[in-house]
Amino acid sequence: MPVLVMKFGGTSVATLDRIRRAAKRVGVEVAKGYDVIVIVSAMSGKTNELVGWVNETSPLFDAREYDAVVSSGENVTAGLMALTLQEMDVPARSWQGWQVPVRTTSAHSSARIEEIPPANIMAKFDEGMRVAVVAGFQGVSPEGRITTLGRGGSDTTAVAFAASFGAERCDIYTDVDGVYTTDPRITNKARKLDRISFEEMLELASLGAKVLQTRSVELAMRYKVRLRVLSSFEEQSDTAGTLVCDEEEIMESNVVAGVAYSRDEAKMTLVSVADRPGIAASIFSALSVGGVNVDMIVQNISEEGRTDMTFSCPTDQVKRAEKAMDEAKTAGVINFHELIADTDVAKVSVVGIGMRSHTGVAAKMFECLSAEGINIKVITTSEIKISVLIDRKYMELAVQALHDAFELEKAA
Ligand code: ADP
Ligand code: ASP
Ligand code: MG
Repeated sequence: MPVLVMKFGGTSVATLDRIRRAAKRVGVEVAKGYDVIVIVSAMSGKTNELVGWVNETSPLFDAREYDAVVSSGENVTAGLMALTLQEMDVPARSWQGWQVPVRTTSAHSSARIEEIPPANIMAKFDEGMRVAVVAGFQGVSPEGRITTLGRGGSDTTAVAFAASFGAERCDIYTDVDGVYTTDPRITNKARKLDRISFEEMLELASLGAKVLQTRSVELAMRYKVRLRVLSSFEEQSDTAGTLVCDEEEIMESNVVAGVAYSRDEAKMTLVSVADRPGIAASIFSALSVGGVNVDMIVQNISEEGRTDMTFSCPTDQVKRAEKAMDEAKTAGVINFHELIADTDVAKVSVVGIGMRSHTGVAAKMFECLSAEGINIKVITTSEIKISVLIDRKYMELAVQALHDAFELEKAA
């Protein structure tokens, strides 16, 4: 029988009532003749609570134990969903990641899925089980320990199952009815897109639009998974929501597809470093060894053989960046006057494949921000996106103004 993957996020399984509602949706697909793999998140708020408990118990925690604690939220919902389906006379069974097994790397708290052998679940489908309910976000390392896939990781579990089982589609049920031109919580002018290309979705996700985890879009693109985002709160047809698909499947697209933002950015400036060959290599290899994910980089003009180097990184990595730079200074690898951390910044980006063939997007973006009196601190661009770092207090205003400037309320 054809296989369908259906993923329900935290708000869609937040109460027993919502689990029942989700189970009914699953029942509809079973009645159509699908064998269904249901991927569930923890009940809304649960993962945050578990992360909080870990931090309170041990601020510099052992990531293996973080995973042991934080993965548990999904186990509860998987069991409850299987029970709910059984109550509806649908043959269902729950599976934790290790039971499938979902084999991952051993990078605890941000592991990557390496392999999902379908044999165990397939054997159960052959015996008459109609729904496998799998706890999302978790897997098992080569050492046999529980791993988690990073926040929002159940999306990636879902796409990886769809790829491994050759599913007809991977439906992501969430609290919005699709992918919008920007986060609908920031402006009510945001419009739902019927389709969005993998490439644009990948950029929007990696620039902060948390509706899909970045890695899930990467996997869908690589394995050609038909990925759909839709609401678990409304009755759904087979074409509801947003389809994430190849560029060729989209008839006409706007120059700019959407606006994304990320609140948790910090701007770090190394003041007065020697301007000589190899200096950037020394700074950024020290940061990489220190586990800092550097995003934007700017080198300022040089004066009398010295220059300032600015980079951005997530706010929760500022301490690590400071430590890495201090250690490199003490070891004599680099020399600088001071390291200034500005943690009150946010990143706002516009994304669109139309930028490849249209000029003037950057000019329009900068004019729009200037008209609102918003100062740009750092700029980066790629073929299909432009990102700026600005003061965090202007973040919402910038997103709304850019949404207006690019007339995204007219998108569909
Ligand atoms: P789930 O718990 O179902 O995984 P998430 O909270 O992870 O749901 O993701 C859904 C949220 O993503 C929405 O409630 C919305 O606020 C946010 N979001 C951010 N950018 C977008 C966008 N461009 N389109 C739709 N939702 C977005
Ligand atoms: N429960 C996990 C989280 O909140 C994974 C997920 O929901 O996708 O990050
Ligand atoms: Mg999510």
